[in-house]
Amino acid sequence: MSDLIERLIRPEIRAISAYHVPEAAGLIKMDAMENPYPWPEAAREEWLEVLRRAQVNLYPDPRGSELQAALREAMGIPSEMGLLLGNGSDELIQMLALAVAGPGRTILALEPGFVMYRMIGLFAGLDYIGVPLRTADFSLDLPAVLAAIEERAPALVFIAYPNNPTGNLFETEAIERIIAAAPGLVIVDEAYAPFTDASFVPRLGEWPNLLVMRTVSKMGLAGLRLGYLAGAPALLAEVDKVRLPYNVNVLTQASVTLALRHRARFDEQCRTIREERVTLMAALTALAGVKPFASEANFILIRLPEGRATQVFEALKASGILVKNLDGAHPQLADCLRVTVGRPEENRAFVTALSAAV
Ligand code: PMP
Repeated sequence: MSDLIERLIRPEIRAISAYHVPEAAGLIKMDAMENPYPWPEAAREEWLEVLRRAQVNLYPDPRGSELQAALREAMGIPSEMGLLLGNGSDELIQMLALAVAGPGRTILALEPGFVMYRMIGLFAGLDYIGVPLRTADFSLDLPAVLAAIEERAPALVFIAYPNNPTGNLFETEAIERIIAAAPGLVIVDEAYAPFTDASFVPRLGEWPNLLVMRTVSKMGLAGLRLGYLAGAPALLAEVDKVRLPYNVNVLTQASVTLALRHRARFDEQCRTIREERVTLMAALTALAGVKPFASEANFILIRLPEGRATQVFEALKASGILVKNLDGAHPQLADCLRVTVGRPEENRAFVTALSAAV
């Protein structure tokens, strides 16, 4: 078997570990930036009715036309822009990578950042360029990014805005300079849009190579798997060619369309999470030994005293709380944990457990 694997599986795939999702049974989940609130009660019956009527014996609408219209309206995407739907934004990253991959083609992202840019780039055979953020505050090192663009001419540049796992936004002007300088596509990944007022959606059309990517995962629909990508229609029509025919299933199309009609209720959940972020940030700031980083997303990165992160992570787990241990994930994330903002009582339980553990 190992002989077969060695002959068949590419060395770069053999060399990596599979994307790790920890066992969370019985734990308060504060590790994956999910919205802790369920589908709003007031819209529950209507949802069940939509599911009852769904024709799962038929293939879904390949383009999800009704859902696309609902997304455009809800997110203010101009009618002259194209829209592409993915099975989560992960799949959109994959489509982009497949569409541009070829000998010598590269993908650039900022580090520490969302690991799937690198992983998917690798799957597609792209060379990966990781440009470090500034160590002190995770701000964007514009000269370094511009130099890498000049030298390597990346086909794709991903900018998470706000960034995961650091939570900060980058300067608008720096992003504008990158879009203007890049010979390839620049994807502003707005996965955390529900928790910030900043967005490049109003800037669509200003540059031919700007794409904006979003997801419904963080607004409370992570289980449905839907991401969307907006940009120049002719460009997206090309990327669309590598999309698998029925990538967004019937239940997801129907459920998200309905959720967008009730978006005020989901917005309210996200507003609550934003308010809780302020409360949690204040509690973390007051804790001796804990350094929280400012966040515009639904999570907060914290740094612990040197060498303590894994111990504190395990102590939190023993108290029934699962967070993300980032120590060892990247040199700039030494001693760091990332906590997703939960319900008020979950955040209080986290702070209590953390203060006992640190
Ligand atoms: N982009 C960023 C920056 C993320 O943090 C995540 C999820 N953690 C994604 C994209 C993927 O989201 P989705 O659930 O839509 O695949």
